[in-house]
Amino acid sequence: MKDIDHSSGFLTLNAGSSSLKVALFPTEGDDPLITGRAERIGPEGELALQDAQDQPLAVAPGDLTSHAGALAAIIATIKAAHPGLELAAVGHRVVHGGPDFTDPVLVTDEVLDRLGQLSSFAPLHQPHNIAGIRAAMAAFPGVPQVACFDTAFHRGQPFVNDTFAIPFRYYEKGVRRYGFHGLSYDYVTGELERIAPHLMAGRVVVAHLGNGASMCAIHRGRSVASSMGFSALDGLPMGTRCGQIDPGVLLYMLDQEKLDTAQIRQVLYNESGLLGLSGGLASDMRSLEQADNAAAHRAIDYFVFRVQRELGAMAAVMGGIDGLIFCGGIGENSRVIRRRVCERLGWMGIEIDHGRNAESATLISSEFSRTTVMIVKTREDLVIARAARLAAGITEKETA
Ligand code: ADP
Repeated sequence: MKDIDHSSGFLTLNAGSSSLKVALFPTEGDDPLITGRAERIGPEGELALQDAQDQPLAVAPGDLTSHAGALAAIIATIKAAHPGLELAAVGHRVVHGGPDFTDPVLVTDEVLDRLGQLSSFAPLHQPHNIAGIRAAMAAFPGVPQVACFDTAFHRGQPFVNDTFAIPFRYYEKGVRRYGFHGLSYDYVTGELERIAPHLMAGRVVVAHLGNGASMCAIHRGRSVASSMGFSALDGLPMGTRCGQIDPGVLLYMLDQEKLDTAQIRQVLYNESGLLGLSGGLASDMRSLEQADNAAAHRAIDYFVFRVQRELGAMAAVMGGIDGLIFCGGIGENSRVIRRRVCERLGWMGIEIDHGRNAESATLISSEFSRTTVMIVKTREDLVIARAARLAAGITEKETA
């Protein structure tokens, strides 16, 4: 077995509103040495880390009421497992890169200022991402920090998918359809290039169906339409987020119900989607499938309906479809949702092989299907690690 260089590595950080996901990667290779996540950061914070064999690591004591405290506990745990570890770079998932960041970027004071200015576009996420970068800078002084953006993949998209039909001054101010989940789409297109290059030369819809969910139409490797828009609320219904909604509903909440913006935000982000439609039963698909009652069916039926509708729209704007790719926790694991989404799509040349679908094989379309249907297990952490390696010059050294 090849020796792993334990003296240096790359850390990837994904800081959410109440969670912090980390992975420690070796200098070479795609498999992390350590993965971990802090959940419910606050009074009930929890932290768990695993080694490469998925064995739990003894977690260093720490204050899990803040992101900085959780990161300190994570770093202490990693250092105990790999004494003498030197980090070559830290890669960060950053939700918003605004109109200008189209690639990963080395973090400088000027970059941090610009990311801060974008916080008003993603107030629930961006401040945590920036706090994660600052905490990593303090913990690892002098180590390059690399920001990787969820919006970057979509930046070259056509104007018609980038805008809303409201006065143009809003577009100029940056009120645009940015699209998200870009790190996942980046990974999936890279994998397709490797395993199904003919699809990358054609028209593909990628359905990233997880707790957060979106879809992206990719033509010759480029994003040409995405279901998420200005915020991560738009498009498909999600675990607790509403997805596409008539803005008139928000006016009704404001005018008739006299809700304030904080209350509306709470409804749209935390009480809607699968959870809302199932009458509070569950936000996660697995529980809804297991519940198998009228409330669960209501939520699942709507989810499937919206995925199909988006798929039809995306195929239409690309003038057809050559491949449909499922990824994310639901896309990768739920045979029921994949089967239901693909039902009645024969007109689109989609026919799945039920045996392969039940096994969650990589290729799930039948031999008669004109359109290739696949499952790709997405790896956002790996996209971040690769960007960090590139920034630290490791990848260039390998290929030289
Ligand atoms: P996040 O967006 O938080 O990264 P994930 O991509 O991990 O979310 O997806 C979580 C979703 O995947 C949940 O709705 C979960 O119930 C669903 N899921 C995971 N495994 C299965 C399964 N075997 N069957 C159905 N749904 C599943």
